[in-house]
Amino acid sequence: MYQELKDLPEDRQIEQIARALVAVKSVNGTSGEVAIADKLEEIIRSYPYFTAHPDHVWTQLLKHDALGRKSVFALLESPQPTDRTVIYHGHMDTVGIEDFGALEPHALDPDYLRAYFSNYDKDSDVQQDAASGDWLFGRGMLDMKSGDAVHLGNLLHYVRHPEELSGNLLVMFNPVEENDHEGIMEATNELIRLKEEKHLNYLLAINGDFVSPLYKGDPTRYVYTGSAGKLLGCFYIRGRETHVGETLAGIDPTLIASKINEALNDRMDRAEKIDNEVILPPSCLYFRDRKDFYNVQTAGAAYLYFNYFLYERTPKEVLDQLKGVAEQACADLKEFLSHQYSAFAKNCGLKGNAPDWSAEVMTYGEFTDTLTASGIDVAKITEDTVRKHPDRDFRQTSYRIIEALEAAAGDKRPKVIIFFAPPYCPHNYLRDGVAAERHCDRLVDRILKKAEEKTGEPFAKKRFFPYLADSSYLAMSESDKETDDIISNFPGWGRTYSIPLKQIHQLNIPVLDMGVYGKRAHTWMERLYKPYSYGVLPGLIREMTEAVLSDEKNGVTD
Ligand SMILES: [Zn+2]
Repeated sequence: MYQELKDLPEDRQIEQIARALVAVKSVNGTSGEVAIADKLEEIIRSYPYFTAHPDHVWTQLLKHDALGRKSVFALLESPQPTDRTVIYHGHMDTVGIEDFGALEPHALDPDYLRAYFSNYDKDSDVQQDAASGDWLFGRGMLDMKSGDAVHLGNLLHYVRHPEELSGNLLVMFNPVEENDHEGIMEATNELIRLKEEKHLNYLLAINGDFVSPLYKGDPTRYVYTGSAGKLLGCFYIRGRETHVGETLAGIDPTLIASKINEALNDRMDRAEKIDNEVILPPSCLYFRDRKDFYNVQTAGAAYLYFNYFLYERTPKEVLDQLKGVAEQACADLKEFLSHQYSAFAKNCGLKGNAPDWSAEVMTYGEFTDTLTASGIDVAKITEDTVRKHPDRDFRQTSYRIIEALEAAAGDKRPKVIIFFAPPYCPHNYLRDGVAAERHCDRLVDRILKKAEEKTGEPFAKKRFFPYLADSSYLAMSESDKETDDIISNFPGWGRTYSIPLKQIHQLNIPVLDMGVYGKRAHTWMERLYKPYSYGVLPGLIREMTEAVLSDEKNGVTD
């Protein structure tokens, strides 16, 4: 590829690489992820430095992966030996192409799509963009093969101008980003191996994943200095089933679930309060009862879980919110049923004691502590349950574990158990209290200010990349104590699911997302804006790289 690139101006080089990458179909979960890794490796190997140092390009196979997917690494070492190293990383998989519908055969053909959208009068925004010639279409063009191409363009720049780089540059491409992030999770081991063997000091990792306007007509170019994390906050609600003929004697778990849903779902008063950031409230991702056929018995249990983005909040704070909401829901239901029962009893002249409608609320950790104290082997029951349901959805397995534990304890009391289930993405941001992170943060301010003056484009620094990204796995702001709060409340942790917490803590690399710019990722109108992405962004990334690698303070006062 180098031969085709070497005489082109930089923006054309990057476009050429991006087109070559988009042409390789690499839908998440398919062998296309292997094909794109091969393509990336082939491009890097064609660069002069790597033809001279072929051992500086290598791949790492994912463990136990039937498809043989792999991460690709390339290390450009500084001519003057130093440990100072910057990482560029990106993911190489894309989401599927079914959303293109009848256009599916052309999903990887930017020129066909541009011609098509130029005549598409059902959406004037996309039509104008296509007609302008400034936008490139196709699956993965925005998310994020153009970001990968920018990294490869910059790698080529430094291969040809090594004197501009006062440190090492490690470029890394990972598979499996669009669902479970296994590529980057396994790559943490490789980053640690390299750090130890080559004595590298990772000063900064730059992801090039896409950024988008936050509202229609938003002209701002965003740079993110961290990643939002994610937790799945789950409820297991056990009520007391009853015949509908005695409905007020029972505790209907769907009523508790409804109250919890009402109290959490899409409610901004439950969201974190952080000014000038994109902060989202919890959203309900699952809400069902246990019944799988019709009868006249009320439901015995209900299952409910919520997506929680984590910005600054600790896992413990999420747990406390879930618990508080469940306690309130149970108290409200008790009062409600007591009212209903009085009306009912009065109406039919019923005498005697009212039923007890109390339900206990506990965390999974509290639940298992009591079981362990009474001699129940939680680990063994977990293991047996997981083995019984090998292919089950992670979340369903968590519910089965809780039910197996309840059965072992013979515990049928109405209750709400609060827990976490996969996936879990750690959160990170550049912290003011950590000198190296604060330094990066100040450098971003300086570089964006300069870029604004030079290009006339408005830039803004935000702390939390609003889409989940691989960068979550290179650093985490959670302390060991905070991750303990997750693990002890996570059924099957280490058995059905885990993330490399030790490695992430050990790496703790400050991360930035300096992304290519475009619109409508994950839709058939996905498109990339060339003038900024190929013309401005590569220079910004290099400026940041050089500023971080050079020892001087660069006019920044920490
Ligand atoms: Zn992406």
